[in-house]
Amino acid sequence: MHVLLATSELHPFSKTGGLADMVAALGGALAGAGTHVTVVTPLYRGVAEKFPAIRPTGWKFGIPMAGEVVDGEFLRLEVSPRLNLWFVRQDAFFGRAGLYNEGGKDYADNAARFLFFTRAALLLARHLPDPPRIVHGHDWQTGLLPLYLQHARVTGQWPNAPRSLFTIHNLAYQGWFPETDWALTGLSPDWFHLESARHHGHLNFLKAALTQSNAITTVSPTYAREILTPEYGCGLEGLLRKRYNDLTGILNGVDYAEWNTTANPFLPAAFSADDLTGKARCKADLQKEMGLPVRDDLPLFTNITRLTEQKGSELILTALERLLRDGAQLQFALLGSGDRVLEAGYRGLVERFPRQVAARIGFDPALAHRLEAGADFYLMPSRFEPCGLNQLYSLRYGAIPVVRATGGLQDSVLDPREDADHATGIKFHAYEAPALEQAIRKALAVWAEPAWVAHLRRNGMTADFSWERQTAEYLAIYNEVAHG
Ligand code: ADP
Repeated sequence: MHVLLATSELHPFSKTGGLADMVAALGGALAGAGTHVTVVTPLYRGVAEKFPAIRPTGWKFGIPMAGEVVDGEFLRLEVSPRLNLWFVRQDAFFGRAGLYNEGGKDYADNAARFLFFTRAALLLARHLPDPPRIVHGHDWQTGLLPLYLQHARVTGQWPNAPRSLFTIHNLAYQGWFPETDWALTGLSPDWFHLESARHHGHLNFLKAALTQSNAITTVSPTYAREILTPEYGCGLEGLLRKRYNDLTGILNGVDYAEWNTTANPFLPAAFSADDLTGKARCKADLQKEMGLPVRDDLPLFTNITRLTEQKGSELILTALERLLRDGAQLQFALLGSGDRVLEAGYRGLVERFPRQVAARIGFDPALAHRLEAGADFYLMPSRFEPCGLNQLYSLRYGAIPVVRATGGLQDSVLDPREDADHATGIKFHAYEAPALEQAIRKALAVWAEPAWVAHLRRNGMTADFSWERQTAEYLAIYNEVAHG
């Protein structure tokens, strides 16, 4: 079976969030299981220079878009005979400082940029010597892929076009554009209707995928149920309910070759569930790096995030302010960037509590590893969380997760009230600062009982979220879709 994965970000070449990690790990795991995998992704600024193994293929193409032809070129990196990465070069579109936005503002031509990418992916699928059986798109940026494939099949332009699978990594980002951008698709206006991409007088990329894809997955079983409700469905719950039989939730796995504590170039010391001495060193070094007093007696909480409403940063700010005013004995360190108000919120908290709170505003993958390794607890109070990777990394790194019981957090963390023997973290339910505050107080009570800390930590560090099981689930869906 040959599968083509199309993604707007791919670790280690480009990343804003979990999508990059997930597609990289899934591609590797599928190839490892014997599947022939092609991954296609845009070539962003600086990537070819940083990874000289990415070579030109000599394959140049032009895509007509609203009256002009936009030129592009494919580059390629052969990871193994079964795993090939293809990069779409179009410097005016992708040779920019950001992936989707800059200075907090989305690029005005995102519809054109990602339609161009999608159409290039289609071209690749069509003209590879061994065309894929399945095209697997991810998130709104590739939302029109299933529509193009369906169009190619129905119009007879490509009668045996591949079947499609589409994965929702976050329903909140749908790719809404003015209707007039439909002209960029090159498809006739007949194809722009309520069962394709038309949505409340707009062009909605994600909707095209949800209506046209042969099957849909999302990244945890709980999120798959939640998005059928108005609270989590972002206006697409009705459509998703109609496609209930084609929708599966599969929890993301972790690439432990990358995210591990025993052979990790980003960490000052190695450690494991059986020997935690290195973790103490990681904590002390992290406290120094973040400018906090080196104290092994205080529990260190961390959080690594895009600063958006989704991630519950306001809850953290409010809960910490109250706890610290109240004299709570803890430290907290943040790595994140995004919303300017939230960034300012953290700067203010650091000013008021400089010995207890530290914040690094930015994007720094190496520091992300150190913040997991040095932490005693990891805060993840998300309003919604399709899967979430940081709680999975935290479990392996011995940072006990404190999470809101939603989406993938619900599916990957066990609270003592659910199962005391196998518990790995602390869960709370209401999306409110007092609920988080209470959960942090529980963490402080755990901290006061070293045996309890050791129990939760050992359970978490030995839990297995590797890709094996999930790979088998994706392969089963590919097979179903290919023969459906
Ligand atoms: P989402 O995809 O919604 O942002 P996930 O938890 O699924 O959330 O994945 C986030 C990924 O991005 C993790 O690998 C995390 O370490 C990384 N990440 C998020 N913010 C930063 C940052 N400021 N610096 C470095 N890595 C970050």
